Formats: sequence, C-alpha cells, structure tokens
Amino acid sequence: MTLALPIKDQFILPEGMVYLDGNSLGPLPRSVHAHLSEMVTDQWGQHLIKGWNQDDWMGQPVRVGDLVGRLIGAPKGSVVLGDTLSIKVFQALSAALPMRPDRKVILSDSGNFPSDLYMAQGLIRHLNAGHELRIVAPEDVLDAITDEVAVVMITQVDYRSGRMHDMTAITSRAHDAGAVMIWDLAHSAGAVPVDVAALQCEFAVGCTYKYLNGGPGAPAFIYVRPDITTDIAPALSGWLGHDMPFAFEPDYRPAKDIERMRVGTPPVLQMAALEAAMQVWAGVDMDDVRAASIALSELFIAEVEARCPKLTLASPRDPAQRGSQVSFAFEHGYAAMQALIAQDVIGDFRAPNIMRFGFTPLYLDASDVRRAVDVLSDVLDNRLWDQPRFLAKGRVT
Ligand SMILES: *Cc1c(COP(=O)(O)O)cnc(C)c1O
Repeated sequence: MTLALPIKDQFILPEGMVYLDGNSLGPLPRSVHAHLSEMVTDQWGQHLIKGWNQDDWMGQPVRVGDLVGRLIGAPKGSVVLGDTLSIKVFQALSAALPMRPDRKVILSDSGNFPSDLYMAQGLIRHLNAGHELRIVAPEDVLDAITDEVAVVMITQVDYRSGRMHDMTAITSRAHDAGAVMIWDLAHSAGAVPVDVAALQCEFAVGCTYKYLNGGPGAPAFIYVRPDITTDIAPALSGWLGHDMPFAFEPDYRPAKDIERMRVGTPPVLQMAALEAAMQVWAGVDMDDVRAASIALSELFIAEVEARCPKLTLASPRDPAQRGSQVSFAFEHGYAAMQALIAQDVIGDFRAPNIMRFGFTPLYLDASDVRRAVDVLSDVLDNRLWDQPRFLAKGRVT
C-alpha cells in the first residue's frame, strides 16, 4: 500500500512552526522516542555488553544500510552506515583513485559542498603522488570529463541553489571516458528518486540527518557497487572492517563484503534513532515524494514572486533541474532569515546572500507554504529584519 502524503502525524513538530529546514536537519519522527528509550532502558541498561549479540548492535550498520539503500536503488548488502559524510567521501575517493593508477585528476565542481572538496585536498596532500583536484563550473562538468580524469566526484543537488545535476548523463560520460564515478547524495536521499544500481556508478555517499531525519550527528552512508567491493582497498583500515575482527589478527584483512567500509565501533544509540526514523518511509513512494515536493516548491516560488518583489530566485526555475529546496537571494538575507525564524518560520541562510527553504512533503502541505509566505512578505514589507538583534551571527547559520 502506498501512503498519501503528508504523513505529519508521524512527526513531532512544535505547535505553530513551519519547518522549511528539513534539508539541513530533519525533524523528530514519533517512532524515535519509544525505540531509543527501550534501547537505553532495556538494551544498554539491562543487557550491557550482551547487546552486541543479543540485540544485534553489531549488525546495525548493514541492517540500517539496507533501509537507506531502498531509497537510493541499492541492492541489499551494498550500503553501510557509519562515521560522518566527510569521512565517507574520503573513503570513496581513497578507494577510487587506485582503481585508475595512471590518471591524476579528481574532477568536481564549484557547486560542491566545501567539505567534499576539502577532503579531496587533504587526501591529495597526504598521498603526495601528483594528484590534482580540478574544480569547474557546474555547467561545464560534462565537457571537463576527459581521459585525464581518474574520478568524477559530484554532489547531485547543490546545497546553495538547489540546482540538480543529470546523474545519468554525467555517469555515462564518466564511464565512457574511463573514469570512476562517485555521487554525493547528501541532498538527494529521501528527497529525489535515485537508482544507483541502474546508474552503475561505483560509489555513492550521503548523510542521514537531512531528509532521512536521523537526528543531529546521525551516521553517514556509503554504497559500493557490489561487483567491485572485494577489489577495493580501504584506506581507513579499522578493526570493524576486518574480515574477522574478533580473531584479533596482527594484519588487516578486509571483510569480503560492504562491511570493509566500516571503520570502528558504531554509534549505537545514534544509529538506533536512525533505524526508528527510517520507519516513516515504509509505504512511501519516492515518486510521490518528488511530485509533492515539486508542487510545494512551485507554489512557494509563485507566491514569493507575486508578494515579495525584493527577493530574486536563486534556484533553477525548471523544477526538473531543482532538488527539493528553493533559494532566494536578498541583500539582507541573513537578518531577514533571523526575523522569519523569530516568527517560527524556519529556513536557513548560506553566505553571501542566500535564503534557503527546504520542501519536505512528508510533513509539509500547501497551507504551510502559504503561511511561510505570509510571514515572509510581512518581514519584507515592514522591514522587520532591520533590527540589531537580527544581525548577530551565531556559530551556525
Ligand atoms: C551536509 C553535507 C556534508 C556534511 O558532512 P558531514 O561530515 O556529515 O558534516 C558533506 N557534503 C555534502 C555535499 C553535504 O551536503
């Protein structure tokens, strides 16, 4: 059975809040409390160390990986959870480069999230083998895939503008040029339909605290195409990626399956929260999510353009080229966003001038969109943002 959206009753959202930031941190699914409290009280509290076997804490990273895998078209046993996305980017890149030992270029684009680029820069420095990170404009990615390129590393949806890359075109160009393809699905998993198996990309990575609602600090995921799993050599060769961790052998021997991308002890409580959070996806069809997301974003754009002339659309106008967020540029965007948040309409701000709004159809409907625009137009028409308290910047924007 396919569920009709939204399914707001499955989430705990503060009364009166319009939450347009699920692209940054998803809200709390109702299923999480009970599961976490059972986990803490019975499993940790009563079973203690026995939990690793009795409650299968050891199986969590792959078990929860399968739940995430279903949303990105990954076959069972090809996705594992753990660490942070920055670490998973490093793992994918460090596994991909030796697959093309004669090539030295990592290709990415200027719309990528800085951490992905920083991790590539750190790896290149560490390898000290003459690699180059080549960063081109998003619209130039296809043409820049030449036979010099070892690895194409692209984030499908631009965190700032929401612009979405064509995964099929880029992956097939990468493969035609003999390059390895890594997709970052940070703003895709749970937001747009993705089919990594059909794409045949070698690696995909992403995080689970955004559209997958796993909570702050929820572990990241990595997918490895099953036919190459046993050929890749993990650079982060921690004991839980060993074939037999409890044999305590002196030499590293990677596990024969996706578990070789594990590193150390998993964050069991955090993963328990994610496992419970993933229950909201049972019966949800990603095509329905996408259709509803487009309807909500189109409504938002139309209303904002009609009522907030000071804002300029900073996302692609064609919904087919947009992920599940809409961005508007505004000179006083930071203060305006703070004024909006003060009225319980939550979006966020990305330097230098982008007001960012995420559309998450599991818990948003058209009335939320209209209310958000009511408040936004009030903030702009009456210059409610023009107050010193809205200019103070916190550590996180
Ligand atoms: C959110 C995001 C990250 C964050 O990485 P963490 O290590 O989980 O903090 C990295 N890359 C992209 C593309 C993102 O959107």
